[in-house]
Order: sequence, then structure tokens, then C-alpha cells
Amino acid sequence: MLYNLKSKRMKKALITGANKSIGLETARQLLQKGYYVYLGSRDLNNAREAIEKLKTEGLNNAEAIKLDVSDQDSVNAARIEIGEKTAVLDALINNAGINGGLPQTAIGSDVATMHEVFNVNLYGVARVTQAFIDLLQKSAQPRIVNVTSSSASFTLQNDPAWKYFEHKGAIYTPSKAALNMYTVNLAYELRHTPFKVNAVCPGYTSTDFNNHNGTGTVEEAGARIVKYVIIGDEGPTGKFISEETNPETGEIPW
Ligand code: NAP
Repeated sequence: MLYNLKSKRMKKALITGANKSIGLETARQLLQKGYYVYLGSRDLNNAREAIEKLKTEGLNNAEAIKLDVSDQDSVNAARIEIGEKTAVLDALINNAGINGGLPQTAIGSDVATMHEVFNVNLYGVARVTQAFIDLLQKSAQPRIVNVTSSSASFTLQNDPAWKYFEHKGAIYTPSKAALNMYTVNLAYELRHTPFKVNAVCPGYTSTDFNNHNGTGTVEEAGARIVKYVIIGDEGPTGKFISEETNPETGEIPW
């Protein structure tokens, strides 16, 4: 049975790394749009605190789920838990991410740190996507947003005129470039289905991730992600989106 989004049923989303920052704001905006949101967090207490805060804003349809994307057992346990609560998921937002700290040069970076970052930013996305794909397939209009970075664009990283040309990072940017290619493969595999699968950059955003050096707000970042969670059947799939870089169509070069 397919669960139609056009029906009165409340749409359901899972967000990884949703206890704070961009993930939490994405949850807030989806709740405001009437979604039921599972807030994935590797520390359950942090997600519960976030949920209490959302409740003070009148947003009651959120639930904390313990989910460490770097740990297959944790992902499996979250899949079992959510599977006991719902037969269908309408959206998966693979938001959890780490950057590996600074500096991160191609010559000097510790390969163990590279492994740690890939384990969250790439393998974590693959773990969660594979675990939850069956619940998403039950939705009539399933959406997957992989939260990426414009800094993973080969074209932009090679363009001296790009405003972040000096922002290199030999651990983080390869992890997100790999995530982009995973997104392309996933979208291709799902091309004959109602899925929309996109890699979306939230923009350079003030969060703990960059010690609040980012110039954008979490509200802007959340809205950029939500736009691709709620896109209609005519919307794009398999695209690399950065509205910060291209405010017109959002699409940017790989
Ligand atoms: P953040 O403030 O550092 O928050 C990251 C979130 O991911 C936290 O909830 C963190 O949980 C969670 N997380 C980390 N490792 C995890 C794991 N193994 N399992 C589950 N959750 C985990 O970062 P942010 O700025 O909100 O970034 C969110 C996403 O946007 C990331 O994918 C990032 O790469 C991307 N992005 C950010 C920017 C920016 O300028 N901020 C720009 C482009 C892309 P804890 O609280 O437990 O650490």
C-alpha cells in the first residue's frame, strides 16, 4: 500500500543530527508545516531537551530517537524503533555531519581523521538510507535530502573567482564530494520511482560547526533544506543545490 501525501495523513520525516543547529531548525520548520518529525540524536538527552524547547513554541509533533549514524547497531536499533511507530516515512534528511577540525591539508591530514569524517558524512548517510529505504518506499512522494556543501564542488574549488576559493579542507570537502556522488547514484537507482533525491547545501551558516563564523542564519539554512523536502512531483532529482551560490535556480556544478 502507498501512503498518499495528498491524503490527510500527517507526513513523517526523520532528520539525523537534529538535536541542534541546522538539523533542529529544519525540524522546527517541518513541524510548522505540519510534519511529524523524528529527531535523530546520538545523545538522547540532547534531543529531549530540543523537544522540550519546541514544545514551548507550540510544536508538539516531534519525537527523540537515539541515532548515531557512525554506528551500524545504532542505525539498526533506530530502524526497529521507528518501524514500531510508523509504517511509512515521507522524508529522510541526512543532516548529521562533522568537519574533522582545522587545519586539514592534503599533505598533512591524519588518515584516521579522514576515516572518522567519512564514517559520518558518507558511510553514515549510506547506513541510514539503506536502513530506512523500505519505509520511504511506502510513501507516494518520498524525499531524501542529503545535506552537502558547495565546498564539495570540483568546479567551484577550481575557480579562483569563487568567494570561498581559499576555503579548502582536504578531509571535509572530499567527504561531501563523495556524498554528492552517492546522491547521484541513489537518484539514478530511484529514477523510475516517485523519489526525489537531492544534495542540498544549507549555505555558510553560523553554528557550532564553524565556531559561529558562518555568515548565514539557521533559519535561512533550514528553509533551503525544507524546500527540497516538500518539493512537488515536478521538482528536480539528482541535483546539487546551493541557493547561496545560485539564488536563481539553486543548481550548481559538481
Ligand atoms: P553542527 O552545529 O556541528 O551540528 C551537527 C549535528 O550533527 C549535531 O546534531 C551533531 O550531534 C550531529 N552529529 C555529528 N556526528 C553524528 C553522528 N555520528 N551521529 C549522529 N549525529 C551526529 O553542524 P551544522 O552546521 O548544523 O551542520 C549540519 C550539516 O550541514 C552538516 O552535514 C554540515 O556538513 C552541513 N553544512 C554546514 C554548513 C555550515 O556552514 N554550518 C555549511 C555547509 C554544510 P552532537 O550534538 O551529538 O554533536
